Amino acid sequence: MESTRKIIIAISGGGLAGAAAARALLRQPHLEVHIYESAPEFSERGQSIGLAINAQRALKSLVPDSGNLLSRAGAVPMNSTRIMIGSGPHAGTKVIDLAEENPGYMMHRAALLHELLEPIPRENMHANKKLVAIEQQPHGLTLKFEDGTSESADALIGADGIFGFVRSYVLGDNHPALKPVAAGWAGAMNMVPFAKARDTLGPESFKINRQYGWVGENGLMIHDLINNGEMVQCIGTSVDRNPSDDRRKSINREYLETVFAKWLDGPVAKGMIDLLIDQEHPAVYEQWEHQNAPTYVNGQVCIIGDAAHAMTPWQGSGAAAALEDAVVLGALFAHINSPDDVERVLNVYDAVRRPRTQRIAESSRLTGRILSGIDETVGLDPTIMHEALKNRWTFIHGFNLDAHIETAVQNLKNDAK
Ligand SMILES: Cc1cc2nc3c(=O)[nH]c(=O)nc-3n(C[C@H](O)[C@H](O)[C@H](O)COP(=O)(O)OP(=O)(O)OC[C@H]3O[C@@H](n4cnc5c(N)ncnc54)[C@H](O)[C@@H]3O)c2cc1C
Repeated sequence: MESTRKIIIAISGGGLAGAAAARALLRQPHLEVHIYESAPEFSERGQSIGLAINAQRALKSLVPDSGNLLSRAGAVPMNSTRIMIGSGPHAGTKVIDLAEENPGYMMHRAALLHELLEPIPRENMHANKKLVAIEQQPHGLTLKFEDGTSESADALIGADGIFGFVRSYVLGDNHPALKPVAAGWAGAMNMVPFAKARDTLGPESFKINRQYGWVGENGLMIHDLINNGEMVQCIGTSVDRNPSDDRRKSINREYLETVFAKWLDGPVAKGMIDLLIDQEHPAVYEQWEHQNAPTYVNGQVCIIGDAAHAMTPWQGSGAAAALEDAVVLGALFAHINSPDDVERVLNVYDAVRRPRTQRIAESSRLTGRILSGIDETVGLDPTIMHEALKNRWTFIHGFNLDAHIETAVQNLKNDAK
């Protein structure tokens, strides 16, 4: 049935997933799109983010001049992610250059989000709108916000992150996969000026733009360039066998020297600890993830990004998966013109996106074990580690997004018959 009015789509959450979904949908004249963000302003917390080749493809599909967007965001093209051994008898040995053929871009998160949101009309962006209830009406949804206001929509895209609200509507309040679980690692981060990082860690690691990942006993240390190469992000992640419910835990030098005790006579740990501790409030952040959800959809409501599939960061793929989600939703909504078809779109979205995203999340868990030196079959042997890592990103980076979209659209058409 042809519709004479626009399909109204609400997006809850204005992070990377919400912004990407808005970009995918807003350019379609038959859709009216609004983003509702709980925070007083649209902004990203955290430091840098890497966009791997599959994320770059998804971004290009959302933003045809994505190269300019990346330049404006101060993105630094990486020549590879170089994995090195950080502790033990092989400390200082190179393991592998990952993503050398198809390098990633590193940038500041806030800069990327800013660029994604920039062209969205202000009247479609609503801050201070924390979604607290969703009511299914005979035709459409009523969304209720913490400030007492409400809005109607034909579809709700929950892009409200790992600790968001929409997942509970999709899975039910008591579902075992509802709440995030501690993944078993905690990481400290800092961002320092380039000259300081180079002077502390030595010029060798900064000859060309590269991300370095040092794998050692019970952890991983990373440094990479952002902000047009003016800043260096430093991360020290270690196994946390007694995770607490606190998302953030204050730390001091002693904490880092204890968790990285076996690294201290190696090539990188002392310098990295100096850089990590050199901030006003040093802290570690617990890694959280979701258990696999049995569905990403309930009626006219779906979840995308971290709300659907929060994963450990070991394969640097959470935001990439969110961008792919947005592209697929955009392609599907382009093929309907009535609110009556929303559920069909969301069901097809679920069917194509859930297997891919959950496969990445599962792969990421095991990659984390290898990259923090706790996989018993790999240990800290550079040759075995090379073999274990060399193909782990193939299915992520080599993904054929166009074919994926084609499958999704075909499924939608078949479903209409
Ligand atoms: C340490 C670390 C490193 C990572 N590195 C990479 C990387 O290099 N590459 C990569 O691809 N991925 C990476 N990721 C994953 C990536 O950061 C996430 O997958 C991505 O940021 C998720 O975006 P999102 O928009 O889904 O969620 P979020 O960024 O959490 O955004 C959710 C938004 O929803 C809002 N919100 C919450 N509740 C409500 C509500 N009730 N109503 C309205 N709004 C609400 C929040 O305020 C927030 O703005 C990393 C993750 C971590 C933890």
